Amino acid sequence: MKPASLTDEQWALLKQYRFQKWNPSSEGGTDAMLLFDEGEMVRYLEGRFSLMGAHDLKTAGSLFMKRYAFVAALGMLAATFWNRKLNLSPDNLVLVDHVNENGLWLPKVCLKDDEAGEFTSTSEKEDFIQSLFSDHLDKIIGVLKHSAKLPNLILWENVAVYLFWIYENDAFVTGKTIHDRKERDFAQLLSDENSHWFGMYNKNPLNRYYTEKERVEGLEDEIRVRKTCCFSYRLENGEQFRCKTCPQTCKVKRMVHESN
Ligand code: SF4
Repeated sequence: MKPASLTDEQWALLKQYRFQKWNPSSEGGTDAMLLFDEGEMVRYLEGRFSLMGAHDLKTAGSLFMKRYAFVAALGMLAATFWNRKLNLSPDNLVLVDHVNENGLWLPKVCLKDDEAGEFTSTSEKEDFIQSLFSDHLDKIIGVLKHSAKLPNLILWENVAVYLFWIYENDAFVTGKTIHDRKERDFAQLLSDENSHWFGMYNKNPLNRYYTEKERVEGLEDEIRVRKTCCFSYRLENGEQFRCKTCPQTCKVKRMVHESN
């Protein structure tokens, strides 16, 4: 690994997705490390019900995972497209609350140590990916599973949708080398052979969600239909309106409507 930093343009791109350098003098925030404790996670989520527009832990926990998925998605963006390793250890991250003009809870993820490294071998990159997922994302998923009683399947799909967005987005491709690296990294992320990168899994926890996009009535573009319901329909604020563009056979939602 060689020491390296991100360019101003690269930081600007990350900032568009609320991923930024930490400024302790102007921002409060919650150390991500605290949330590895189930009691702290419950306190954190309950303390944000009104910001999120949630009324229960399941809904808040699922929304939290959608936001936290950006740690994986943007970490992989830097690794694949820029060959850079960001310091994404939980003790380096601070979550700062932010609600946008549409009422969506979109916390910033701030990095205390904003130095990066340059991968000089495949094994360095694989170690990074494994630690990002197995030692970090999978652990947070475990905490939410117990504290918010959310199934693994919902939580991993919340991560998968943002990873797929990174790897299916040609805006980040700047040439053939990057294109080829993107294809290779994406295939490796979906491979059952690499299931152990994600934790104690026999099957790759992302792969099951990588289905063909399909045409859905009322939508212009083909889309990938969600397999699990993320509970956004239960939110009070603007997030619930995103359901209109999610045609997944949201069984829970349908049951609620049928019983009314
Ligand atoms: S319809 Fe889609 S976006 Fe809405 S809660 Fe269900 S899975 Fe989530």
